[in-house]
Parts: sequence; C-alpha cells; structure tokens
Amino acid sequence: DQSIDDSVFTQHESEVRSYCRSWPTVFTRASGSHITDQTGRQFLDFFAGAGSLNYGHNNPVMKSALLDYIADDGITHGLDMATVAKGKFIEAFHGKILQPRRLDYKIQFPGPTGTNAVEAALKLARKVTGRESIISFTNAFHGMTLGSLSVTGNSMKRAGAGIPLVHATPMPFDNYFGGVVEDFQWFERVLDDSGSGLNRPAAVIVETVQGEGGINVARAEWLQALSELCQRRDILLIVDDVQMGCGRTGEFFSFEAAGIKPDIVTLSKSISGYGLPLALTLFRSDLDVWSPGEHNGTFRGNNPAFVTGATTIDHYWSDDALTRDVHAKGDRIHTRFSELCDTFSGISTRGRGMAQGLVFEEAAAAGKVSASAFGAGLLVETSGPSDEVVKLLPPLTISNEDLDRGLDILAESVKEVIG
Ligand code: PMP
Repeated sequence: DQSIDDSVFTQHESEVRSYCRSWPTVFTRASGSHITDQTGRQFLDFFAGAGSLNYGHNNPVMKSALLDYIADDGITHGLDMATVAKGKFIEAFHGKILQPRRLDYKIQFPGPTGTNAVEAALKLARKVTGRESIISFTNAFHGMTLGSLSVTGNSMKRAGAGIPLVHATPMPFDNYFGGVVEDFQWFERVLDDSGSGLNRPAAVIVETVQGEGGINVARAEWLQALSELCQRRDILLIVDDVQMGCGRTGEFFSFEAAGIKPDIVTLSKSISGYGLPLALTLFRSDLDVWSPGEHNGTFRGNNPAFVTGATTIDHYWSDDALTRDVHAKGDRIHTRFSELCDTFSGISTRGRGMAQGLVFEEAAAAGKVSASAFGAGLLVETSGPSDEVVKLLPPLTISNEDLDRGLDILAESVKEVIG
C-alpha cells in the first residue's frame, strides 16, 4: 500500500518541521524534475531538495549504477574502511574535479551532511592557526549544529540554541552598503588597533551566493578582495559550497568564476548526485594537521553515495557540457524574471547560473506566490531574512520544455498575487 493518512505527520511529528511543511500533501514517487503525490498528482520540482538533487530525482545513470552495486552485495556502510567504492570516488573526484582545476586539496569525509563539513572546516582552521574566532557574514547560513550555527546570521535560527555560541564575528556581506566594493582597509585598521578588541581570526567563512540568505550574490571583485585580505593577514579562507557547489552556478565550484583558491572548501547536498547523504571538507595539503580519529563519526562511509557520486562525476563532469548548459538555462530564467520585473512593480531579480531569485518588496507576497504555484503544480520555495525571495533551484538537468512550463506557472502566480 503506497498511501498514508497525513494525520501521522500532524499528530506525531514535531512542530520543528520546516520548509516543505507548507506543501499540504503527501508525496510518493519522483523522477527527473517531476514529483508525484499519493493522489497521483504530478508537480514540477524547482526546489530539488534545496540543491541536493542537481541531476534530478532518480537519475537513470546513477540509479543503474546503484542497483548494480546493491545487487552485487556491495558494502553499504563502511565507516573509514578502505573500500573499492570509496577508492573509486576519491579517484574520480581527484582526477576529474581537482586536478583539471589545479586544486591541491586533501579530501576529508567529515560526516553525512553539510553541517558536518562546516564543523570540520572550523575545527581544522582553529587547530592550524591556534586562533579561536571566525569571521562570518550577514545573512550567512552554514548549518544547524552549534559551531556552524555560530557563523549563521539568522537570529531566528540561532534562537533555538540559546546564547552564547562559539565566538564568531559578523561582517557585512557584499552589497551591504549598496554597490561599494570593499578593499577591507577598515578591517585591517580595526585589527591593528589594540584597543578594538578584535583578535586576528582563524578563518573567514563565506558563501559566494547566499542561498538561504536570499540569493545574495557576491561579486567577483569582492571575493578577490576578501581572498587578498586573508592572504595578507594569514587568515584562512573557507568557501562553504554546500548549496552553490556541484555546478549550481555553472562551474563545478562556485568560486571558480572569481578566480580565487580558498584554503578550505565544504561540499555536500548534490555531491552524491542522487540525494544520498555525503559531505566533503577539502583543504590545502599542507593544512592536514589532523591526528587519526580527531574528527570522526559513524556515517562517513556511505558507500552507495560513493558509487552514485563517482558515477555522477564520470558522467557529468568529464567535460564542460553541463557548465555551458547551466549558464544557458540560467540566462533563460534571468530573461523571464527580467520580463516579470519590467511588467510588475515591487519585484526585482538576482542570481547566478541556476540559482535565481525573485525578490518581493512586500515580503508576504513571496509566500503567496509559492502557495499559488503549488496549486498550479510547481514546487518552489522562499528564502531570505523575511522569506521575501522566491528561490529557484531546478535540477540542472531539467529540459528546456519543463523549465519553460515551470516559469510560465510562476509568471501566472506572480500576476495573480501582485498583478
Ligand atoms: N552550508 C550551506 C551554504 C547550506 O546551504 C546548508 C544547508 N542549507 C548547510 C551548510 C548545512 O547543510 P546540512 O543541512 O546538510 O547540514
């Protein structure tokens, strides 16, 4: 029996349920860019597991590799055991992702999710430098465990943890002061001022595009200035690519377009290519000061995720076809969003690649657009400090036909809500 009464969720599951609770149905199956509920109703999925399903649901290439692996009694759980599946993943990631980009990173498997990757990054930075504090940015989101939450900017999300959290200093993200590109001289002056109370931090952690923060795009010049600041002052630069990595902005790593080379990088979400939990913390080889077992956890050896992850890299990242496709589809979304902005007042748009946002001056309108789109068969979520941004993260592999159909639905919803 493939159906269930939704009272099991309303009666027995915690109120802490987030995001997808606003979609009042029970889902059962999914394929590509489509997801079906238990009444047989089909939706286009422009949410894609908050960026975890960059290659769509049940992508047939990865599905077939996974089915073969399970049929052959491949190891499912392996802690830190050396397994063939894990070895093949490392080989593919090193050979096809890192080497062609001249990135000399060691690979750590920090635990199953994005927040584990961030925790490992923060801990490593503190261990390497012997310093304590971390600089993070306004509107940043880095995860829900205490360390990653400390560098997250959203006070509602932090409230659940109580205070104080780990020592972190917030700094204005790009465009906070309206178009001024920082040279960070002010920061260096405060750092040199012994009366300021600012100690040299271990690291700066940044997203190149803030996903949860409302699709806030950092400009290349700003990222370059930040990277130069870190180099000048011997501060480690961590790029959190959990949501914007794995091709979401076009290139495999979101920081490639700015030409910077972070000291530490976090990846998760779409790295398994199949929605299976997997996370990586990458760092310059000379930063590998970990002692064996110093950062561990039971579910680091998700071998089925290694299998689908290696298959994804082989299939999608052996050339730059996907990158070109993402740029083309990103332009397609941007063009449609710009038309909407020309037609209706009170909205604007921003984004990079296939992470695009429609920003509503009246915050509540974004939620209404999302609800109306759901009614018309499209899943799309909101983000930003007041949930004022309709955030589009369709699978990168979506067909142009489905993309256009979803954009048509969204345009109708915008018209209905603010037209
Ligand atoms: N970093 C970023 C940039 C994220 O977007 C997220 C999740 N939205 C995380 C970290 C945390 O990842 P996870 O939810 O898998 O712990």
